[in-house]
Amino acid sequence: MKIVAIHQMAVPLEANINNAMVNFSKHNVSLVAVVSDVRRNGKNLIGYGFNSIGRFAQSGILQQRIIPRLLDAKPDSLLTNRADRFCVESVYRIAMKDEKPGGHGDRAGAVAAIELAFWDLNAKIADEPAWNLIAGFADLPKDIPNVSTYAAGGYYYKEGSLKGLRDELRGYIEHGFNQFKIKIGGASLDEDLKRIDVAVTESRDANNVAVDANGRFDKKEANTYLKELAARNIRWYEEPVDPLDFESLKALASNEELPIATGENLFSGQDVQNLLRYGGMKPKRDIFQMDAGLGYGLSEYLRIISMIERYGHDRSQCFPHGGHLINLHIAAGLGLGGCEAYPGVFKPFGGFGSSCRVEDGLVKPSDAPGFGLEQNEELSPYLKNISEIT
Ligand code: MG
Repeated sequence: MKIVAIHQMAVPLEANINNAMVNFSKHNVSLVAVVSDVRRNGKNLIGYGFNSIGRFAQSGILQQRIIPRLLDAKPDSLLTNRADRFCVESVYRIAMKDEKPGGHGDRAGAVAAIELAFWDLNAKIADEPAWNLIAGFADLPKDIPNVSTYAAGGYYYKEGSLKGLRDELRGYIEHGFNQFKIKIGGASLDEDLKRIDVAVTESRDANNVAVDANGRFDKKEANTYLKELAARNIRWYEEPVDPLDFESLKALASNEELPIATGENLFSGQDVQNLLRYGGMKPKRDIFQMDAGLGYGLSEYLRIISMIERYGHDRSQCFPHGGHLINLHIAAGLGLGGCEAYPGVFKPFGGFGSSCRVEDGLVKPSDAPGFGLEQNEELSPYLKNISEIT
């Protein structure tokens, strides 16, 4: 069993929307296809992966560094001892050959796209859904999972802000969601509080509404918002300050009323360890949002989950960022608290596809082998295109 080719392509995101820091209209994502010599139904089995959403494609790093290392490796070095599947730890180790530690930026997403494609491939070789493979790998029960999810949206619109927000949230309810997350920090405090009031009214319970500042505030501004948010008893306050400003985060997390969420912009186990040491995150309360697609893939994410638990936290506090099928399978397989969803935005990667319907805020992965990315109707044409590269 061996790899015969690895392809990558940069796919544009469909998202002319804003949070407090970023407009996504120029964003793209690295889609990867790992082509094996394993034959099924007259075709080579292919594993697909991508580097999540929000950090741009990494074509140069993939093409010039990561892919050549894997193709140059001895075929047996990429296999497990039993040679019945590809060894994801070896994939990570070989992909990182001659890379210095630290500086976990774009490289972490490039390696993740490839490593996740190997998980998809391994699950297809075993002819099982990825969540089932992941649960077995982590020695967890293989129960049919129901994953808690929430609609991550509430972006800023140019006109008719409150009406646009209300219409967006009502659309989520029609599609089976009962919890939302909306953006803050891109308008005045007064305007943001009106937006939160709209979300609370639509969801019928403040505890169904989380807010996300995307690292926009300094400590003083973050604290001003904290007092207002705590008084409203909302679900959580996400990325109030810069994701690496652990001192300010610790001061905010010392509050007794309001859960703090962060982690989507930490890309390595070492970064998460610093968060755990210095960020003041409270066990049984605060929320971790690390995303395997942005941080070296699932083998690094498994190390992160173990670390979080060693520090006294629970995996039910983990809700990966990303809003796509890969993180749905990871949340299902690892028994996490849940995962976010991007219904209707960040196409072709966002959302779970029509085979995974959301009901009462819960969603199940389908039985399709791998991550089931072929069942995402918007993404499947791109999978066909990349699989036809010769
Ligand atoms: Mg966020």
